[in-house]
Amino acid sequence: MSDSSHDGAFASLPLAPELLANLDSLGYHAMTPIQAESLPLVLAGRDVIAQAKTGSGKTAAFGLGLLSRLLVARFCVQALVLCPTRELADQVAGEIRRLARTLPNVKVLTLCGGTPLGPQLASLAHGAHVIVGTPGRVEEHLRKGSLDLASLETLVLDEADRMLDMGFQAAMEAIIAETPACRQTLLFSATYSDEIRRIAEELMRDPAEVAIAETH
Ligand code: ADP
Ligand code: MG
Repeated sequence: MSDSSHDGAFASLPLAPELLANLDSLGYHAMTPIQAESLPLVLAGRDVIAQAKTGSGKTAAFGLGLLSRLLVARFCVQALVLCPTRELADQVAGEIRRLARTLPNVKVLTLCGGTPLGPQLASLAHGAHVIVGTPGRVEEHLRKGSLDLASLETLVLDEADRMLDMGFQAAMEAIIAETPACRQTLLFSATYSDEIRRIAEELMRDPAEVAIAETH
């Protein structure tokens, strides 16, 4: 247990002390396997395709990555996480807020369909660092001009396989077209299909691929 590079300690990674202290207080004492495989690559700035089953801790893998790149003093949208459903977007936003609670004043905003536009427009007018949303509603805000992704640093496609299954490909592509080419792109998925591989080839720069096989 003494060699931190092999026991999955978060402290073996270049994470801010505030994040490390918070992980400890959250009871995240060791990285899950997908975190151990993907987080070093994410923190190194690579584009990453990560595949692992539900419940394996994928949110913190990309959440710690996007929070590490965030410049809180710059109040603009620097990270966007696209999720297939409102329920998943709410869960992801909750987890990112928990991970960020020792970083003062990180603003995380959810933008999902099925909820009124008015309050979302008001929240967007106040600004945010991180947006978590479903593709349809995020695209709608881009069309309206209420969301600007010109300063985006990190784009996350969470449960990308399900977003494609749900017919969000066109919305995803329209959104991605509004983001800077120099962004970091992270694709997390429970399954890895030919469709995902094709999207990844289009959207990602020399992506590193990591997968955690199911164990029986
Ligand atoms: P996935 O996206 O792979 O389905 P989640 O990111 O939702 O998984 O994480 C599943 C659960 O595991 C969450 O309750 C989360 O708080 C918890 N978790 C994540 N990483 C760790 C960790 N390193 N140690 C302990 N619990 C963790
Ligand atoms: Mg998830």
